[in-house]
Amino acid sequence: MKSLIDDSKELIKTVSTDFGRVFYSQPKGCAIPKSLNDLIEVVKGCYDSQTPIIPRGMSHSASGQCLSQSGVVIDMKQMNNIHDIEFDGEKGFIKADAGITWERLIKACLEQKAAPPVLTDWQKLTVGGTISTGGLGFMSHLYGIQADIVD
Ligand SMILES: Cc1cc2nc3c(=O)[nH]c(=O)nc-3n(C[C@H](O)[C@H](O)[C@H](O)COP(=O)(O)OP(=O)(O)OC[C@H]3O[C@@H](n4cnc5c(N)ncnc54)[C@H](O)[C@@H]3O)c2cc1C
Repeated sequence: MKSLIDDSKELIKTVSTDFGRVFYSQPKGCAIPKSLNDLIEVVKGCYDSQTPIIPRGMSHSASGQCLSQSGVVIDMKQMNNIHDIEFDGEKGFIKADAGITWERLIKACLEQKAAPPVLTDWQKLTVGGTISTGGLGFMSHLYGIQADIVD
């Protein structure tokens, strides 16, 4: 079976830095899972070979948070489906993959005339990426950080 981990120079170059362009590192490879099964296969393979992994979203971190030296970068952007969305006019929830951007998530919420209580000011970031770092926006003084509103 073909490995989901790609070690081509071109792909490794694209994941060797982040928005900050301050830190650079050389991962062993990069995987771009499209499904939960793909992700499980990659994580299991890395666990078995004791290879470190690092998830990567829109790579808008500025200090190398989504980089890996000698590990495997797992680009999560293809795992971006919305599985469920409910809103009763007051409260609601949305079940989505962490690789989805807030921009797309918000569009889906607005179709239900709803919106998440805390949004980052810049929304071309992944849900997984901002929850990992906290996620601050103009409503944080009332509702806290995005990580507070996630189950
Ligand atoms: C122009 C710009 C505007 C910004 N505006 C805001 C703002 O308004 N509010 C704010 O709070 N921040 C803001 N940030 C910072 C940004 O929210 C963080 O850097 C955030 O982590 C970026 O999300 P990302 O999808 O790019 O994640 P990445 O930079 O790719 O990853 C960041 C961290 O999250 C981890 N990660 C990524 N995906 C997953 C996943 N699926 N599961 C688990 N871990 C994961 C990575 O391993 C890494 O540690 C801004 C940054 C930029 C460059």
